[in-house]
Amino acid sequence: MGDIIWKMFDKDTIEIKGNDRKVLCVICGNMIPYTIMSDLKQHLIKLHSNYVNVLELQAHKPRVNVSHVWKHFKRTDCKFYAECNYCNNNFSYKTTVANLKKHLNRVHPDIDAKADVIKTDTNGEDSEESRSEEESNVKGE
Ligand SMILES: [Zn+2]
Ligand SMILES: [Zn+2]
Repeated sequence: MGDIIWKMFDKDTIEIKGNDRKVLCVICGNMIPYTIMSDLKQHLIKLHSNYVNVLELQAHKPRVNVSHVWKHFKRTDCKFYAECNYCNNNFSYKTTVANLKKHLNRVHPDIDAKADVIKTDTNGEDSEESRSEEESNVKGE
């Protein structure tokens, strides 16, 4: 997601003053104050929703979401079951890992909200990094 956002903002224009950061939005040409990446995303959503829709479509590949799920579940010895890190119950993901996501939504809504939705109160850049790490683990199996 970070890379996509940086197509809409010009990294070369970033101004940092103390804790305040600003970057040029290439769509509207304004300097947009932000503290985390999510602020920039919010700007796109509020003012340039047409662009965001296009981006979301481009970015909408299922495995992006899937990788989040594995932050909250461990694979078990049994091939199609995953163990929830929080309640230690096992869940089948034989058909789809969406089952696991449903469990998070239902039983651990706070956790899933953080993983799935970019909110203004998350530390955007850090989580981007750990996310791609997670993905390579999954691939390496
Ligand atoms: Zn703009
Ligand atoms: Zn659970």
